[in-house]
Parts: sequence; structure tokens; C-alpha cells
Amino acid sequence: MSLMIFLLIAAGSLGAIYLIIRLVRAVRVYLTFRGNRLVSCPENHRPAAVRVAAGKAALRAVAGKEQLRLSSCSRWAERQACGQPCLAQIEEAPKACLVWTIINRWYQGERCAYCRKLFGEIHWHDHPPALLNRECKTIEWNQIAPENLQEALGTHRPVCWSCHMAETFRREHPEKFVDRPSTPLRMSLYH
Ligand SMILES: [Zn+2]
Repeated sequence: MSLMIFLLIAAGSLGAIYLIIRLVRAVRVYLTFRGNRLVSCPENHRPAAVRVAAGKAALRAVAGKEQLRLSSCSRWAERQACGQPCLAQIEEAPKACLVWTIINRWYQGERCAYCRKLFGEIHWHDHPPALLNRECKTIEWNQIAPENLQEALGTHRPVCWSCHMAETFRREHPEKFVDRPSTPLRMSLYH
């Protein structure tokens, strides 16, 4: 009888350990594959903005099955029947194609187009940096659709948060700024 109880406890413990391992794996799958990503669409070799169905992938991982599917793609409106071959790129380098990784990398070693300050570690929760578009207007990242991101990285210039704030204020309140003639002191401030 006592052997039976022992076996039951042992089996229960093994089951619990197996479940914990699967849950840890599921959390890891979710954290790895959530977020917006940029891939090269294998069909037209152009950038496409995609999201992996990370929640569903995590649930499958609990059941012991590991298969990724997309939950959205910027090309689905024009191309519905897609076998999602781009998933191979995501599985191979899940972090490298994350939009935030790509943007962070873009700032490294660059200087602000206005004040020339070198970008270091980016603090997205406060003072997020911005961009200068081809019309010489500063804009924020959320104004760029993910599928246009790759193009923007080639045509826009990096701008620090302080300069973006100053330029936005200048644009919205032009009456508060008057063009005064240059003086040696003012010129020395800029050079
Ligand atoms: Zn600046």
C-alpha cells in the first residue's frame, strides 16, 4: 500500500515537473516572438511588416507542438494566400528582425542632425529620439508605418528628443520666433 502511495506521489511529481518545463518553454516562446518585425518578403524581396501570433505559439508550446504562424502582414491585403515562408527568417534570427532592434541599431554611432550630439543608449520610455524627413520636418517613429520603415531609414536623418521638441514648438508657434540679424555673439554660439 505504501509503495502504491509512493508511486502515485512520484508520478504526480514527474507530471508537475513536466508541466513546469512546458510552461517555462511557452513563456520563452511568447517573449521571443512578440512584437512588430520587418522581414524581406520572399515573394517580391521587399520589406514587409509582420507580427507572429506569439500567444498561439505559446499555447502550442504548452501542448508540446512548436509551430509559428503570422497574425498579421502588411502584404496580406494584396496577397492573401501566402504560405508564410518568411517565418524561416524569424526563426533563424528572431531578435535581429524586431523593429526596435533595427531602429536602435540605426541610431548607434550617429549624431543628431541639429545639435550633432552623439546617440548613446536609447531611452524609449522617456526622451525617445525622432527623425528628420525629406521635407525637413521632424517626426516621431509612430508616424511611420512599419512597412515604410526600411525606406525611411535610408532617407530620414536622426534627431534627438530635445531638438525634436524645440523644432515642434518652433513649427507650431512661429509667431514666437523672429528672425534677427546675425551678430558675432549669436554666430559664435552656432559655430
Ligand atoms: Zn539634437
